[in-house]
Order: sequence, then structure tokens, then C-alpha cells
Amino acid sequence: MAKIALGKGKSTVTTFHGCDTKGVSDQCSTDVFVGDDKKGVVRVGDRMKDHLVSGTTNNPCTLKHGKGLEPALSKGSETVIVNNKGVGRVGDKYGSEEISTTDHGSYPVEAGG
Ligand SMILES: [Zn+2]
Repeated sequence: MAKIALGKGKSTVTTFHGCDTKGVSDQCSTDVFVGDDKKGVVRVGDRMKDHLVSGTTNNPCTLKHGKGLEPALSKGSETVIVNNKGVGRVGDKYGSEEISTTDHGSYPVEAGG
């Protein structure tokens, strides 16, 4: 079991890139929520927010995973389904990027495989 991932920046994503090492969630359900401030849950196919791909902090590149190329959640729960799609959890991946944390406020909700 792992916490269900929330969209709109409420989940952090480890990018494994040199430039933006952390990204955040973006797209999510508009009618299924978890937590205090009604943030939607992330589903398979939802895209994370755009971010820089490589370079260093002192010499940032401008190459992005962005503008329609943001990675989409490639795998989620096979047993917990939201809007006919598997729900995303901490540990699931947007391509090679992995959801590392999510903020549920005082109502943590987990989903299994
Ligand atoms: Zn990326």
C-alpha cells in the first residue's frame, strides 16, 4: 500500500535529471479528491508539470519536458480505479520520473496494487 498521489503540485516527483532534480504533479481528476483542500487524485495518463531536463544549476539548460511533452503517469494501481483509470501512488512513475511524496493534510489515503 502507498499513499494516493494528488495533482496540481501536491505531489513531488524525483526527475533523475541534472537540472530540475525535483518536479511536481499537475493533471488530476476534477471530481475525485483526497484531503483537506480537495485536490484531485492523479490517474494513469495524467501529465506532470513541465521541467528542465539537463544542465546544472550554474549553467541551466532550456531543454524541457514541457509543452505537451511532459511525461504522463505510465502505471498506477490495477485495483483502485478513478474515472476508469488506475490511481497513481507514491512510487509510481511518469515515464522515468518517480512520485516521491504527496501531501494529504490530515486524511492520508492509501491504495494497493
Ligand atoms: Zn523529465
